[in-house]
Amino acid sequence: MARVLFINGGSEGHINPTIGVVQELISRGEEVVYFCIEAYRERMEKTGATVRTFDDQKFIKAFISGGRDYLLERINGLLLTADIVIPSILAQIQGEHFDYIIHDSMFGCGRIIAQILKLPAISSCSTFAQTKNTIDDMLEQSFEHVPAEIVKPIKDKFQSLTVMIKEKFGVEIHSPYEVYCNPAPLTMVYTTREFQPDGEAFDPTYAFVGPSIISRFIPEKFDFTTIQGKNPIYISLGTVFNQAMDFYKLCFEAFGNTDHSIIMSVGNKVRISDLGEIPANFSVQNVVPQTEVLQYTKLFITHGGMNSAHEGLYYGVPLVVIPLSADQPIIAGQVAKMGAGVTLHMQSLTANQLREAADHVLSLQSFKKAASEIRESFRNSGGYHQAVDKIFEFKNQFHI
Ligand code: UDP
Repeated sequence: MARVLFINGGSEGHINPTIGVVQELISRGEEVVYFCIEAYRERMEKTGATVRTFDDQKFIKAFISGGRDYLLERINGLLLTADIVIPSILAQIQGEHFDYIIHDSMFGCGRIIAQILKLPAISSCSTFAQTKNTIDDMLEQSFEHVPAEIVKPIKDKFQSLTVMIKEKFGVEIHSPYEVYCNPAPLTMVYTTREFQPDGEAFDPTYAFVGPSIISRFIPEKFDFTTIQGKNPIYISLGTVFNQAMDFYKLCFEAFGNTDHSIIMSVGNKVRISDLGEIPANFSVQNVVPQTEVLQYTKLFITHGGMNSAHEGLYYGVPLVVIPLSADQPIIAGQVAKMGAGVTLHMQSLTANQLREAADHVLSLQSFKKAASEIRESFRNSGGYHQAVDKIFEFKNQFHI
């Protein structure tokens, strides 16, 4: 049995794929101490992990204070969280021994903590993997045609933050890529090499373990009669970019009073009563047990978050992807390329377009067939079982 320090941040997309991994680690005898924000305590405690938390408000405030307009600003935001996360974690594990660390590939300053504690490290990557070259290109592109007086202070800020990290924690940061992707001797990526763009570019230290999906279902919290036997269309924009009143109303216009039965998740930030009259064929909820709902779903209209797209395809559901931000356009591109769905643009979207896209995907067998094929490759990849096999290989390699 080894003691594992697991560092994560605070978003559904980064937490959910780790649930199966932690549960499996514990079932194979490991002891896991898991750091995240308070909101995920209950979910993670159910795995058997010891959960400890850091201040979520301070964490989010620090992250956002880096700025949101340019990639390097977001990277600065990640560095600004160091002061919140690292001292808190170090204080809470004082005097304890750990054998290895697993950290999120983005949030929680995992790579820095691994170096402070001198622990063998594994990165948990819930987005597509990125190489240093792609991040360098993205940084360059994001500053294209941007005046020097805007770029310079952002770059200076990055430099001053790396100096601060070196002074406070004795850790050298060599590139923005290190902060954004937290590379480690083993990176577990929760997709398949075939689905990962340019998958062959990644060396064997990247383990493409496939989607890590496990039931998070709390029975008393969902009325299954709303979906059973109804073969619904399921609509969700995920948990981050989901304050989209206009879009939800457009969905009413597109599908209201049609033969389709619709389940729509609008997230916790929207008041359902603010949506006005809800058509009779709609069931609108703040949050649904998505991985359960997808098992009954004929079509998923999604923003193409990494988890949502993978969960949909894991259950063989074709997708209409309306990417909003982050890596979603890339995911939408992969879905379309593999024939498992179509992409729409939110900015110019009309109700007609949405209805026609849904009818198109539903009427052509090829979409369902492609989704079923991806479903098979996802299931064969092993998910969290494969992730833990890889972790145990890593332990052997490091004589843990
Ligand atoms: N989710 C859920 N119920 C909902 C909406 C979302 O369980 O009503 C879960 C979904 O299953 C997925 C996660 O929230 O695991 C969303 O992650 P994703 O990467 O798709 O998007 P993000 O929220 O990060 O934009």
